[in-house]
Amino acid sequence: MAKVESGTRRVEQSTQGSSSSQEIQIPDSITVRDLAEEMGCSPIDLIKELMNAGVMANINQELDYDTAAIVAEDMGYTVKEPEPYEPAVEVEEEQEEEISPAPARQRVYSEEEMKYVRPRPPVITMLGHVDHGKTSLLDVIRRTEVQAGEAGGITQRIGAYQVSVDDRLITFLDTPGHEAFTSMRARGANATDIAVLVVAADDGVQPQTREAIDHARAARVPIIVALNKIDLPSANPDYVMQQLADVGLVPEDWGGDTIVVPTSAITEEGIDTLLEMILLVAEMEDLKANPQRDPEGIVIEGELDRFRGPLATLLVQEGTLRVRDALLVGETYGRVRAMFDYRGENVDEAGPSTPVRVMGLDDVPEAGDAFRVVEDQSKAKELAEERTADREERRGRPVTALSLEELYAQAQAGNAATLNLILKADAQGSIAPIKNSLEDIEEEGLGVEFVHEGVGNITESDINLAVASQAVILGFNVDVDPTAKQMAASEGIKIRTYDVIYRLIEDVQLALRGMLEPEYEEIVQGRAVVREVFDISGVGKIAGSQVSEGRALRNADVRVRRDSEVIYDGPVGSLKRFQRDVREVSTGMECGVGFEGLDDLQEGDILEFYTTERVEQGL
Ligand code: GDP
Repeated sequence: MAKVESGTRRVEQSTQGSSSSQEIQIPDSITVRDLAEEMGCSPIDLIKELMNAGVMANINQELDYDTAAIVAEDMGYTVKEPEPYEPAVEVEEEQEEEISPAPARQRVYSEEEMKYVRPRPPVITMLGHVDHGKTSLLDVIRRTEVQAGEAGGITQRIGAYQVSVDDRLITFLDTPGHEAFTSMRARGANATDIAVLVVAADDGVQPQTREAIDHARAARVPIIVALNKIDLPSANPDYVMQQLADVGLVPEDWGGDTIVVPTSAITEEGIDTLLEMILLVAEMEDLKANPQRDPEGIVIEGELDRFRGPLATLLVQEGTLRVRDALLVGETYGRVRAMFDYRGENVDEAGPSTPVRVMGLDDVPEAGDAFRVVEDQSKAKELAEERTADREERRGRPVTALSLEELYAQAQAGNAATLNLILKADAQGSIAPIKNSLEDIEEEGLGVEFVHEGVGNITESDINLAVASQAVILGFNVDVDPTAKQMAASEGIKIRTYDVIYRLIEDVQLALRGMLEPEYEEIVQGRAVVREVFDISGVGKIAGSQVSEGRALRNADVRVRRDSEVIYDGPVGSLKRFQRDVREVSTGMECGVGFEGLDDLQEGDILEFYTTERVEQGL
């Protein structure tokens, strides 16, 4: 029987007959002749399409279901499943088009659905300062699994992997660091359930350790500390524990509630304990999902494979993803033609918390994109196109962080509202005084909360955190990286930089009091020179002028300058060209300009047209 070799071809999206959504039914196996007849096309066309798909078949050849279905779909047909698809439990009448970015762990299930809800493996991200051993720990944990696994195979780097501990699974995301973690969150994707904070026992809490803690806290993700490199003679666990306690992670041994596990990626000491602790925390978090629900989840990473086309590693968060499911992924779509687990093995289905690599998408999606399963490919395509159109439309209309008005509304509704802040300063020494003063401010139930503070320029990572936690960024004696500036503009994130501490504090204070006066900026639109003065009875003086630069505007203000003096500053009374009222006159043109109450007008006076625009205030 002819079969499509999965993994060896790039499936081209055929445009042929794509407008047709004719439905056909295919049995478990079918000859080329019968399939052609079923589709109402010539067997020759079908054989050609099969050749494109890498299958050499003659007219009497039997095709298996998968091959027949793939080719038929490529030719624009909708293939009906041979056996009824296991019905997904209907929970919502109409699923929201925007996939809910809420973490699966916060999902609320209906009573009916609770019957199907099961515990699911925790999804872990390693965070911590550079060189403290995140990658090494991920490697050791992965190796342990490979050695334990009967297959003894090589794991593939697909962006995530799973290990089994006492018959329970743990999913590890393979891109360590808070940049990846927070950029996913900024895109609305909450993949991580538990953060493992890796802190080298010989180096202690470092700037990125602090950053990682803030990022994990902002995401409300529990933190387990791996006190790594414990094998080194220079390791000083007590000192590091003290540092951890100082940043609010008080170790259990010291009466706090932070689990700290001494580990070594070299001797493998503590790895088992770390895994056990992860399972313990997972149990406390009561992580659950409904494998029967319509599948949805997020993209861990995407790539373009020379032979297999777009590939995406998906993390299933709800439901069970199956081969042949039609997918809407970010702004692309497709059908699951084949799925592979992190060992590179073919799998037919993937349940909650499982990472799978999927083949069959039309384009490469981005990490953090949400996916869900829809009825069929044409629906998926339609929705993907709608999303692209929506995004195009939204361009230039940035989403803004929580505004002060919204904060007030919250406060008035009786909810304690806080203005989330990210503070970046030039030195550790300036952070404490700023922070202390700001924390003391409390205005009618409104307060500030520091999502993160740190030393150094404002970077993309700060913007991502601001997006994810709806924060305003304050800079003290620091610059904004150019890429961060661009990103802030497109994401609608407010950045304010200061070089005087009291100005910064005053602004926050005023912002919280809602007293920040709007500021206006004057923009000179154009200048004109008076050539001749006309005195028109009943109208007054009219300046016959020539625009020397920019534009003369009817709906603007005008300043009349004579030498170094301003003899008039007020609205434009009238603007005419050849007796006709006009809205604007451009450079080089002549026009007549009237004023409200100006008699003393002379040849050679300079007219300066300007508008006043409101500069947005508030943080
Ligand atoms: P990452 O930047 O946090 O991912 O750190 P890496 O995993 O790349 O590790 C940085 C360096 O520390 C490498 O040279 C590792 O071999 C070394 N390293 C990592 N873990 C340990 C450990 O537990 N003990 C010792 N002695 N060295 C380690």
